[in-house]
Amino acid sequence: MPAFPTTLIPELRALLGPANVIDTGEALETLSKDFYWYSPVLKRQLDDKRADVAVRPGTLEELKAAVAACARARVPVTVRGAGTGNYGQCVPLFGGVVLDLARLDRILELTPDGVVRVEPGARLGTIEAEARKAGWELRCMPSTWVKSSMAGFFCGGSGGIGSITWGGINAPGNVKSVTLLSCEETPRLLKLEEGDSKRALHTYGTTGIMVEIEMRLAPKVDYEQLIISSPDWEKLVTWSDDAAHHAAWGKRLVTQFQWPIPSFFKPLVKYFRTGEHVTFLLVARTQAEAIIADAAAAGLACVYRTPFSDPPKPPFITDYTWNHTTLWAMKSDPTLTYVQAGFGRNFREQFALLEKKFPGEVLLHLEWIAGNPKMTREDIGTHSGENVGMGGIPLVYFKSEARLQELLDYCAEIGVFIANPHTFYLEEGGRHPNIVEKRALKAELDPHALLNPGKMKSYPQNPFAPAAGTLAGTAV
Ligand SMILES: Cc1cc2nc3c(=O)[nH]c(=O)nc-3n(C[C@H](O)[C@H](O)[C@H](O)COP(=O)(O)OP(=O)(O)OC[C@H]3O[C@@H](n4cnc5c(N)ncnc54)[C@H](O)[C@@H]3O)c2cc1C
Repeated sequence: MPAFPTTLIPELRALLGPANVIDTGEALETLSKDFYWYSPVLKRQLDDKRADVAVRPGTLEELKAAVAACARARVPVTVRGAGTGNYGQCVPLFGGVVLDLARLDRILELTPDGVVRVEPGARLGTIEAEARKAGWELRCMPSTWVKSSMAGFFCGGSGGIGSITWGGINAPGNVKSVTLLSCEETPRLLKLEEGDSKRALHTYGTTGIMVEIEMRLAPKVDYEQLIISSPDWEKLVTWSDDAAHHAAWGKRLVTQFQWPIPSFFKPLVKYFRTGEHVTFLLVARTQAEAIIADAAAAGLACVYRTPFSDPPKPPFITDYTWNHTTLWAMKSDPTLTYVQAGFGRNFREQFALLEKKFPGEVLLHLEWIAGNPKMTREDIGTHSGENVGMGGIPLVYFKSEARLQELLDYCAEIGVFIANPHTFYLEEGGRHPNIVEKRALKAELDPHALLNPGKMKSYPQNPFAPAAGTLAGTAV
């Protein structure tokens, strides 16, 4: 790998100001990392990876100047939002420059018909608060919504809170447009609209630098946060599945946890009954009474009820759902890790098969989403509440990488879709039916193959990879 050019750092300092160029210390370490350590496999592979320098442009013009300098110097460029990705998407495999876009965080426009136009680093929490003031809300957001950036969500995430009704980022209509900056000596802008924007979604910053985003919003709903509890897993899963499919109930979240997962949620344990499974719901406040009554009629208890306040202020039950569950679990028991799954309508049979083959090793955490029950990233979401599927982020007691792989293989065998979170390769972490278009976009906007090199496994060029080398035991 060529040595990092010594003239680049003074050049970047002159362009952005010394305070916005970080080339040593804890700050550089932090800006080189994300939540990759969630995975014991990625932890082993990525612990020693680090950028040579991180830069923090404050305007589009500064960003263009920094990108042009990096392109001239032919160094790797890894874009960063809030750094909450959990597959090492933000970790530079070959050093180089981390482009931290947290300062480009303005909400540029919120139109009367519910479209928000933002800079890439705009925080979802800020957008949600502003949208709610104007009678709107985000259609979908990750459980890291308070911190994470809009572009980071589009380039590294997939869906989350709201996806039960609106699907994920790939669902038709959710994204109005994305504008990308090329990584070359004279950076160019390219705007992709509507379905065409999918070429740039969930591509880990390999297909251009997102500089502006237009996302459609949903009409605001006042929500109630509910937790329903039962010692009977089967009864609870039947009720939760019915609730998720109930077309007349307004919902932003339906999440079910198998005991002992609730015991990991320390701030909430006082509400839980030892040994009982729980379902977390965000439902329309006007329907909360009817939903609690329905649960009671099914023999289930509501053990927690509190409004989702407006403007949003904690407590948020969303802080325990989606991939936050994994965080609480790992805090309680560091031997736990996770997989990201999509179950079929034969989910009962799939649960039983998993328990038989891996007794006591898998703890079920289920998330319902609008879309294909097998959780393809493409075209999920119908906005109708009818085409709802069951996904989830089950926890797994980690024994060895080989045992984890056995589990992933077995899931494939029994028809459980897995978006593997133990790989930094884009193509292995989910389905990309449009990977040919994604590669073409990369070729168009990243002609020197500098953007997050090594992450798009099927891209033929990587000027930084050792010829026939390996990266910590994994072929690059
Ligand atoms: C506790 C926890 C819970 C989570 N829950 C969810 C969840 O519910 N749903 C979900 O989808 N994800 C989830 N995630 C993953 C992650 O938090 C989200 O996807 C989040 O939206 C990422 O935003 P970010 O700003 O932190 O992105 P980053 O981590 O900074 O970046 C993510 C990827 O996008 C790229 N990128 C960032 N900005 C740009 C840009 N301007 N142009 C091009 N590429 C860019 C980066 O290079 C990187 O590859 C979770 C992670 C954790 C740790």
